[in-house]
Amino acid sequence: MTALHGQIIKTVREISRDKLVLGTWGNVSAREGKGFWITPSGMPYDQMTESDLVYINPADGKFTGRWKPSSEWRLHAEIYRRRPDCGAIVHTHSIYATAFAVARTAVLPVTEDIAQVTGGRVEVADYALSGTQELAVNAAKALGDRNAVLLAGHGLVGTAADLQEALKVCQIVEKTAQVMLLARLLGEIHVLEEEDVRRLRHFYLTGYGPGRGEDNNENIN
Ligand SMILES: [Zn+2]
Repeated sequence: MTALHGQIIKTVREISRDKLVLGTWGNVSAREGKGFWITPSGMPYDQMTESDLVYINPADGKFTGRWKPSSEWRLHAEIYRRRPDCGAIVHTHSIYATAFAVARTAVLPVTEDIAQVTGGRVEVADYALSGTQELAVNAAKALGDRNAVLLAGHGLVGTAADLQEALKVCQIVEKTAQVMLLARLLGEIHVLEEEDVRRLRHFYLTGYGPGRGEDNNENIN
């Protein structure tokens, strides 16, 4: 068992604790070497341990471990294949993000935190049955070079260089979906200007500007 295994289990506990998933739905993976570690299929999160994780080599689809990998492993494999910058993926079925996925409506950069962590819109991938290669391709295509994508009628995928950041992407997209819905009850939704979104993302990634100072951490206000 390695530190990476521990981080995957920690992330799994967090998505379960934050109610971003229910039951055994959702999954978490992290890249290592030519392949990636992923949570097993159908195992309750509170029972899952490091030795239950499954290693997948996407080149031949072969897996190593005591259990079958998550049925969504193709989705993870396709994203890792297309995105060498991606080191971790968190897939959740959280309520507000899923509401947008059902309405097939993008989550927009309406607040500064989502502009920082996703860099812009969270698009909805075309529907395909879960577990299929078709869904994997649709999701990777709609994800493009961003780091979150909604799966139509299904849920949310967050990607990042590491697990902590991928989890944060899922948490912030969920929060933003909830905020958008509430804001719509109050009136018109205002999306941040493209140039401001670009600057916020740049500050966040580079640490330049007021976004990542030691005094105010990730707060740009
Ligand atoms: Zn799912």
